[in-house]
Amino acid sequence: MALSGLEIYKLLPKTNCKECGFPTCLAFAMKLAQKQAELSACPYVSEQAKEALAAAAAPPIRLVTIGEGEHKVEVGNETVLFRHEKTFYHPPGIFLRLKDTDDVAARAGPALAYSVERVGMTLDLNGVAVENASGSPETFAACVQKVRSLSSKPLILMSNDVKALRTALAVEGGKRPLLYAATPENWEAMAALAKETGLPLAIRDGDLDGLAALTEKLKAAGVEDLVLDPGRRDLLETLHVLTHLRRLALRKNFRPLGYPVITFPGEGASDPLDEMVVAAEHVAKYAGLIVLDHFSPSLLYPLLTLRLNLYTDPQKPIQVSPGLYEIGSPGDKSPLLVTTNFSLTYFTVAGEVEGSGVPSWLLIADSEGMSVLTAWAAGKFDAEKIAKTVKEYDAASRLAHRKLVIPGYVSSLLGELEDELPGWEILVGPREAVDLPNYLKNVWRP
Ligand code: SF4
Repeated sequence: MALSGLEIYKLLPKTNCKECGFPTCLAFAMKLAQKQAELSACPYVSEQAKEALAAAAAPPIRLVTIGEGEHKVEVGNETVLFRHEKTFYHPPGIFLRLKDTDDVAARAGPALAYSVERVGMTLDLNGVAVENASGSPETFAACVQKVRSLSSKPLILMSNDVKALRTALAVEGGKRPLLYAATPENWEAMAALAKETGLPLAIRDGDLDGLAALTEKLKAAGVEDLVLDPGRRDLLETLHVLTHLRRLALRKNFRPLGYPVITFPGEGASDPLDEMVVAAEHVAKYAGLIVLDHFSPSLLYPLLTLRLNLYTDPQKPIQVSPGLYEIGSPGDKSPLLVTTNFSLTYFTVAGEVEGSGVPSWLLIADSEGMSVLTAWAAGKFDAEKIAKTVKEYDAASRLAHRKLVIPGYVSSLLGELEDELPGWEILVGPREAVDLPNYLKNVWRP
């Protein structure tokens, strides 16, 4: 649990020597508590104090990384029970289970190839969980190798047999898969494998006391990156246990259960639609990794959208970068339209302009992610800001005309903008993006 400024102060030398850049040790402690200073700025902190502060600064839910590079999945390190308290940081990784007896190309191929764009972001599956259903290490390894030939996305290797896991690891490609799972029966061999390879390890026990005891044993054996499977599969039971685990970690700072959780929605709900309902619950509360048994674009899309929406910072609207965007292949006689950098505004306007078939220049002003009316009311999308954006991105150099179309909702800016942009004709466009195609085709003239 984080320490208060006064608690940190008690661990400092209290000499007020100012070498840290702050006038007193107390001032430095307060900044440390607010995470606005680094402990290393004080050269006189004792080793004992360093250890105490480091332990207090450790996240209540450990951050665990599965996979490598652009596809890596980071889970854990959450700090709140409810998104509105601050934000959720690490979206759950969504995996598809593949049995090593399945046809790899037919089952995993379409799932791995699936991706969809939404508000400028790519939504897709995070990886594949390969299960050693055959019981044969060789079949398991062959399946892992085939999946690897399709994708470098993270894998979860599912087998209770350490020999099968070793055989699969030899062909996995060294991309940091998750090993699943250590149990009360096999934990020593699993711990040895996880320690030797430095890989994250999932542990399964249907009893929370047993799960906590297992994490303690694995930590003592030198395995730090753990993922918990509390073994519940029923919708209500899973909700209870995942909420309980999150509360224990955050409210009680109970370290033995301070790890991300893996869930298997399809094991409690065999119908694909029911499975997605359970998975949606796990996205909201509080899975770190979700392994699905079914893949269907029409069911995965809402799940990915839900995840995207829950794992955005409620205090920061999704934004696009300000700038001058080409929609189609505009020329010097094409229209120039201006709007704000709220993602939904940008993609709605860009979509309508593209749909109109009239190539255009779309100038995006920095409104701190607010939509047109909100930004105007907050003084973030006024005549001065628009004129500054026109000049900053040198819109005039792309045009033979000097006409700027502003959103209908800010028509009141017309007079002021004409003063800010002498020589420009300011045109008032439609209020709603949906009316842009008609405006561009029938009203706009260069
Ligand atoms: Fe106190 Fe250390 Fe800062 Fe000196 S450098 S004022 S001892 S916190």
